[in-house]
Amino acid sequence: MPPQQLVFTPPRRGKPPRHLADMDPKERREVVAALGRPPYRADQVSRHYFGRLIDDATEMTDLSAADRESLVPALLPTLLTSVRDVACDDGSTRKSLWRLFDGALVESVLMAYADRVTMCVSSQAGCGMACPFCATGQAGLTRNLSAAEIVEQVVAGARAIARGDLTSSATARRVSNVVFMGMGEPLANYGAVLGALRRLTQPAPDGLGLSQRHITVSTVGLVPAIDRLREEGLQVTLAVSLHAPDDALRDTLVPVNTRWPVAEVLDAAWRYARGTRRRVSIEYALIRDVNDQAERARELAMLLRGQLVHVNLIPLNPTPGSEWTASRSADERVFVRILREAGISTTLRDTRGREIAAACGQLAAE
Ligand code: SAH
Repeated sequence: MPPQQLVFTPPRRGKPPRHLADMDPKERREVVAALGRPPYRADQVSRHYFGRLIDDATEMTDLSAADRESLVPALLPTLLTSVRDVACDDGSTRKSLWRLFDGALVESVLMAYADRVTMCVSSQAGCGMACPFCATGQAGLTRNLSAAEIVEQVVAGARAIARGDLTSSATARRVSNVVFMGMGEPLANYGAVLGALRRLTQPAPDGLGLSQRHITVSTVGLVPAIDRLREEGLQVTLAVSLHAPDDALRDTLVPVNTRWPVAEVLDAAWRYARGTRRRVSIEYALIRDVNDQAERARELAMLLRGQLVHVNLIPLNPTPGSEWTASRSADERVFVRILREAGISTTLRDTRGREIAAACGQLAAE
């Protein structure tokens, strides 16, 4: 593409304005050069954005007025507009609803723990995977997010921490972890998600400098994309939303299972674990009397035994109008015990943000 075409003027049809966080360092310098400014200015703007979380031109005092006027709108267009912010868990969880340039809505959630701050980001507006227990899945896919729309959610979280918005976490200074567990199927938006992974992990001024190991990409199990991600040679954690050990049940809970069944998804997961030496996370939402029987725990244990794996059991967060609900705690305990007795590392996730409908598209659905 000639440099002129890289410059953002009107929004591309259906696509968000191009932003610094969509570009690698070379592309940024090309955009700056095309605007007739010295290419190294791209690094200065990047340092403000990634290093200081600034996108307000008036704070970029090392740039001339002319540079600020031409470069800041071209490199840092506004992508997210805050619609609503809700806090809960004594201020340690904060959920944000954002409007994108075309009116699409997405959510992100910031969660402070004793030892880390996790940002849960959306990778798509809506989702095309149609899992019946998930609020986002009910509405279908609106569109893919751009890399910068994903990165901006993390930057917004980092700014919220810097402002002291996470009240209970005096120790939290920065976003340490990112999980792709908001709206959307990240591996169905591969290019933008990979771009976001690079921006999140490259050190400033090229990115936010997060550790690859502190990022988790969660997927329904798109096998070719799991393999592709493995081949990138990144150290990000893969989470697979399994939810059932048998194809008959998984076909109903995660419809894409009819394309890539349990055995194929798990094979891809083990290839990922071997290739990256990273423990794969298996996500399993416990749904009362649907997938929480002891027999299913035993079947799951058989599938996972001996692998580099951790099981993350999630109490179902019931979506409005669904007859499904969370498991009885006695059944949860049996499920955990069976897996642990089989030597499988297992935790039952705490349910952050339940009273603010923080799970899975519920705020956007309201
Ligand atoms: N599409 C990706 C990531 C988004 S959802 C994926 O499916 O992995 C993140 C996790 O939340 C997934 O494991 C998903 O199955 C789970 N989830 C969705 N709705 C839920 C609900 N109502 N209660 C509990 N977990 C839910």
